[in-house]
Amino acid sequence: MDDCIFCRIASGDIPSEIVLEDGDFVAFRDIDPKASEHLLVVPREHIVSLNDVGRWPGNKGQSLLEFIVRAAEQVGIKESGYRALTNVGPDGGQEVQHLHFHILGGEDLGDFR
Ligand code: 5GP
Ligand code: ZN
Repeated sequence: MDDCIFCRIASGDIPSEIVLEDGDFVAFRDIDPKASEHLLVVPREHIVSLNDVGRWPGNKGQSLLEFIVRAAEQVGIKESGYRALTNVGPDGGQEVQHLHFHILGGEDLGDFR
């Protein structure tokens, strides 16, 4: 997807502050952080949102969850705590149409909203 910003970040075409990567996923710092620590975790494969992970092989969702934990560990917030969330569609406020999980932490995040 040449016109997808997160495909281009995952491929290294657009520079970003990558904190962890493997063959399937990349974690990098959000350009406009909403907390002291704010990472985005994306699959290298272009899929639009969580609604589409049904076509993944069974173990890939598990790998994604484990990758999110490793990314949190990498930036030192695994034990202090963090919030992992993904926005889906218009009501979810999804701006970039490539599946991504936000990992927020490094401070007390307070109530959910
Ligand atoms: P969404 O609203 O789609 O859930 O979140 C999109 C996120 O992507 C936002 O938090 C925004 O700051 C981040 N973002 C958008 N463009 C870029 C970019 O070019 N680089 C990085 N590192 N983050 C971006
Ligand atoms: Zn993409």
